[in-house]
Amino acid sequence: MPGIDIVPDEFVVEHDGVRCMEQRGNGACVALDPVTRLCTIYDRRPKACRDFKRAEALCIKVVARAVAAGADSGPLS
Ligand code: SF4
Repeated sequence: MPGIDIVPDEFVVEHDGVRCMEQRGNGACVALDPVTRLCTIYDRRPKACRDFKRAEALCIKVVARAVAAGADSGPLS
């Protein structure tokens, strides 16, 4: 159905009536495999993820912020 993200319920939380992807304690998406660093629901990933373009300005900004905060940049480093 257009406009509706269909992801496994166990990966979703609701904040103030808005459904969101759950995060691990380190801020990583729960759908991200911590070993392979691959999305485990890639074919069903939310629209926001499908629209996010790797290496565009927002991506670079987000990665820079994570690195500055001491996050493991994984395969990006
Ligand atoms: S693509 Fe989206 S759903 Fe998949 S791991 Fe990344 S943030 Fe999570």
